[in-house]
Amino acid sequence: MPRAPAIARTLPSLRRALEGLRARRATIALVPTMGALHDGHLALMRQAKRRASKVVVSIFVNPTQFAPHEDFGSYPRTWKADMAKLAEARVDLVWNPDVGTMYPPDFATRILTEGPATAGLEDRFRPHFFGGVATVVGKLFAQCRPDVALFGQKDYQQLKVVTRMAADLDLGVKVIGIPIVRERDGLAMSSRNVYLSAEQRAVAPTLHRVMKDAVKRLRNGSDLEAVMADGTRTIGNAGFTLDYFEARHAETLAPVRSIKDEPVRLLVAAKIGTTRLIDNIGV
Ligand code: AMP
Repeated sequence: MPRAPAIARTLPSLRRALEGLRARRATIALVPTMGALHDGHLALMRQAKRRASKVVVSIFVNPTQFAPHEDFGSYPRTWKADMAKLAEARVDLVWNPDVGTMYPPDFATRILTEGPATAGLEDRFRPHFFGGVATVVGKLFAQCRPDVALFGQKDYQQLKVVTRMAADLDLGVKVIGIPIVRERDGLAMSSRNVYLSAEQRAVAPTLHRVMKDAVKRLRNGSDLEAVMADGTRTIGNAGFTLDYFEARHAETLAPVRSIKDEPVRLLVAAKIGTTRLIDNIGV
């Protein structure tokens, strides 16, 4: 049986545990998560192990990045299964604060995000989101003082926002992005996939299929506008309500006119029933 990681739930116990790790001159990698762990999260942990001598995983379902109508209350919480996976992954420490520890009643400070956070993608549909993410990740970085932190490209705009924030605030953390881990049929793994009915689950890989097809056509010289229009139609016909399907510059997230404005990334967000899925792909 792999050894269970240490668990810290209060700031003093986190500090003690980190001092213990650092006493052996360890470098520390942080993997922030909201739990309900899947193979995408585990890929981040494997990379974390390669990049640092000790791995800290945070599990915190952050209320400030959910709007009142979103799924904070019903977000999957699978602590026991998560702990088994973290032991298997040989994670050293789990940081699992409660909401009161992260946001005491007199909490009054937030990180204001601009640049990639105002690119007109996720921020258009979840205006509260990046302020919540940047503030909680800023706190996690301050609390854990990692040398590196790993984030998935699955949340592509978030990766850019966090990278910018760490640089802008001189936090001394190297942010590393990890490729998207997918199910066999191409659906990007997500904690929210458990919300899908069998029928919705069967339709969900359409997003990845459309993007793969779009990339193929674009590389073969097809017109960007036509390819995006076709993809938009296919996604709608499959039963999704589309938030956006866009081609953007992969670094600045600025709109692009053609794939000559490289590097280009296609990004999609769409609802199937009440479940909102996001995905992206490099051209
Ligand atoms: P979450 O628990 O959904 O907040 O995600 C925690 C981290 O895991 C984020 O950096 C995500 O981008 C990353 N992540 C989630 N799903 C995947 C996936 N399918 N492949 C790679 N990384 C992922």
